[in-house]
Amino acid sequence: MNRLRTTDVVVVGGGASGVNAALAAALTGASVTLLERSAFLGGTATGAMVAAFNGFYWHDTLVTGGTARLVLDQLEADGGGAGFKEYTAGRLTDAPLTFKVYPFDPEILKVSLDRITAAYGIQVVHHAQAVDLHGDGSGASVVTFIGPTGQHEIGCRQVVDASANAVMAERAGATLVAPGVHERQPMTQMMRVSGVEMERYSEVPTETRRQLVDDGIEAGEFFYRTLATSQSPANGDVFLLITAVHGHDGRDPQGLSAAEVEGRRQAFVSLDYLRRVMPGFERASLVQLAGWIGQRESVRVRALETLDGEAVRTGADHHEAISYGGGPIDRHVGDSVRLAAPDRPFAVPRGVLIPEGTSRLCVAGRIVGCDAGAMDGLRHMGGLMPVGQAAGTIAALAARDGGEPADVCYERLRSALLEHGAVLDPLRAS
Ligand SMILES: Cc1cc2nc3c(=O)[nH]c(=O)nc-3n(C[C@H](O)[C@H](O)[C@H](O)COP(=O)(O)OP(=O)(O)OC[C@H]3O[C@@H](n4cnc5c(N)ncnc54)[C@H](O)[C@@H]3O)c2cc1C
Repeated sequence: MNRLRTTDVVVVGGGASGVNAALAAALTGASVTLLERSAFLGGTATGAMVAAFNGFYWHDTLVTGGTARLVLDQLEADGGGAGFKEYTAGRLTDAPLTFKVYPFDPEILKVSLDRITAAYGIQVVHHAQAVDLHGDGSGASVVTFIGPTGQHEIGCRQVVDASANAVMAERAGATLVAPGVHERQPMTQMMRVSGVEMERYSEVPTETRRQLVDDGIEAGEFFYRTLATSQSPANGDVFLLITAVHGHDGRDPQGLSAAEVEGRRQAFVSLDYLRRVMPGFERASLVQLAGWIGQRESVRVRALETLDGEAVRTGADHHEAISYGGGPIDRHVGDSVRLAAPDRPFAVPRGVLIPEGTSRLCVAGRIVGCDAGAMDGLRHMGGLMPVGQAAGTIAALAARDGGEPADVCYERLRSALLEHGAVLDPLRAS
């Protein structure tokens, strides 16, 4: 078995949270290896083509900075993003919500993430599917991963599990909390389309759009009651979020395979329907189906603390806040979505990053210690990037001390986060 050079911190998963964990650990002085099973970084943002960052703002108040800002700066320099804009989600529902989003081009984001991880000296290993984690008997850990032709190992002091599936946390002995597959929010196959005349489409009255969507659902040719779009700032291509696949477990290969096939079917059928009935879509042509279906929910860990939906809705503060979220709070139910804004920015406590009963491990991303209601408000990428920053910072500090993540002094963590631009007092900062 091939053994890679030992590193301070191994981050598993290069999505929104994992990239930010890796950047933060490197900024805090650790040597970092980032294992990513696919051929590029970005996770759901690139692989599932979810082409707009939400959650950087609560109304007009910025709640996210730090390493996430570094990512936006690189994206802008590469021509893949052009700033925030107002977006109204759920236009066809009874309760639409307007908030700030940051549209980007996922293909350019792939290159931007290559550049920024290289600039901070992070060793990125692609086609590396982490499958096991164990102690080496001398206070360090060994991560096993499968590459294109076989198994490899890498030794490290700390691990950040940002895999969105809690692969490492489970191996480390964490208890996983898994909502039943029929309670989970649907998966969505995104697609990239050219030739849409957005100006003509934007003139279609909401009532007409709603009627056409209802007719399509009735006829089995449309699958989602919110016709959500975003546009590439690079070339105007449109990203369509119009499919909803229910009742599959994304951690089960057979369930996931069935979801992928159904997602592609829905995308193809519903684009054809739009072409036939929706003004502005007559000349729309499919450029790309996302590389994999987007999963909104899988499992979460039982952590030292659990963030609950009430704390998110009311914007509760916390004496050990590692980041703040601004929402939106959205739950996709059946073929529609319910949207709300939190009353205030809500604090994310550091205990949600540390799974109970594990050693030398933090989690980041959509698997942190939350209930389902809290994750409805935290799962947006602008909310999860600073969570990743905190997990990477804790891992780097714990690696330096040779101790456990739970033993890192909160004041020390807070000052390291602030030093690297984190927003830890959003209402005062604004
Ligand atoms: C359809 C859909 C629409 C959404 N819309 C928006 C939106 O408009 N705006 C917004 O901000 N958020 C949106 N979200 C939410 C957001 O995209 C996700 O919650 C967020 O990207 C999750 O980040 P993460 O870092 O936890 O995981 P991911 O981004 O999923 O990253 C996990 C990474 O881990 C890798 N990985 C997994 N297992 C392993 C392993 N064993 N070894 C190595 N690598 C591994 C994966 O390949 C992946 O790259 C949407 C989500 C979906 C599904």
